[in-house]
Amino acid sequence: MATIKEIDGRSVHQIQSGQVIVDLCSVVKELVENSIDSGATIIDVRFKNQGLDSIEVQDNGSGIAPANYSSVALKHYTSKLSSYSDIASLQTFGFRGEALASLCALSILTVTTCLEQDAPKGSRLTFRQSGELESTSVVAAQRGTTVSVENLFHNLPVRRRELDRNIKREWHKVIALLNQYACIQTNVKFSVSQQPTKGKRILLFSTKGNPSTRDNIINIFGAKTLAALIPLELDLEIKPSGTRRDARSNEKLTSNGHGVRIVGHVSKPVHGEGRQTPDRQMFFVNGRPCSLPQLAKVFNEVYRSYNNSQSPFIFADVQLDTMLYDVNVSPDKRSILLHDQNSLLDTLRISLSQLFDSHEDSISITTS
Ligand code: ADP
Ligand code: MG
Repeated sequence: MATIKEIDGRSVHQIQSGQVIVDLCSVVKELVENSIDSGATIIDVRFKNQGLDSIEVQDNGSGIAPANYSSVALKHYTSKLSSYSDIASLQTFGFRGEALASLCALSILTVTTCLEQDAPKGSRLTFRQSGELESTSVVAAQRGTTVSVENLFHNLPVRRRELDRNIKREWHKVIALLNQYACIQTNVKFSVSQQPTKGKRILLFSTKGNPSTRDNIINIFGAKTLAALIPLELDLEIKPSGTRRDARSNEKLTSNGHGVRIVGHVSKPVHGEGRQTPDRQMFFVNGRPCSLPQLAKVFNEVYRSYNNSQSPFIFADVQLDTMLYDVNVSPDKRSILLHDQNSLLDTLRISLSQLFDSHEDSISITTS
């Protein structure tokens, strides 16, 4: 009979890291979210060879204090959450303290950081696979942090081969994801560039630190795209679906329902030229990019009843009380559990029809 024994800590870390960082998108997402959490107003994302060689995210945020250097990449060390009860009220993207630790296990991670009062001198930190600090050196730097990830999955040969093989598809997803962050973040200057193995660095897109998502859309997708959109501003009153009972006393729980706002931009319900592709459909919950397939389905179905030859551009931020959803469902936090989702979908269907009804006579505008 085989003996049951504990897996050594190093192996556990390796196994779990592969679930936090599953692909190129997870790297980009984690680094960009850290920059946003740090209060940055400038975020520069730089790829070499579409991320296969390196991904670097530079920000002008808070920087990391020297006292935290040794814990920054340790697993479950975070400056954002100290106990589970804080999760519901959390305003930051991160809270698990897993991203940098996982990246140490799967790539070569370097962090360069500088506090405002220490500029123009910062520190360059390197780490062991375990996330322990390996070396610190003094370098020239400005306030903020640059995190560089090289040779992603170098020690997971199967995953690395998959990444190499599917890079075209992955790259497409990465750019779509970056579009979402750049669109939703107002007052943040985003720039994204890529340098091929041989050749010069190319700027792919940038935003100007605009105060509105409208201007971000113009910077990223162009003024023509914006001209074909109508503002989305729905105030939904969600009635509780079904009667809930207290698990212990079996007494009926009374609930008054709640309000949900959906704001953003959506295509006019008219026939224009050109076809919007699905990666121009972006959903957020309180500013967090996420996948809301049922919501997307309602948008597309209602839209199609007005215009069945095109698929709409959608930029929809669902704004609701943090107590009414759960982001801790999947490691990448993209799947979100919404409270009373069915009632929300029913109410949305009606409100969207009313919105499109009121714009049905809008003039058709070319979108391509
Ligand atoms: P989490 O975001 O869940 O806290 P991470 O592993 O992503 O976990 O980051 C660990 C910690 O490192 C963060 O809590 C934060 O204190 C610090 N950190 C990471 N990236 C940055 C950054 N760009 N600017 C400032 N601090 C950062
Ligand atoms: Mg994080």
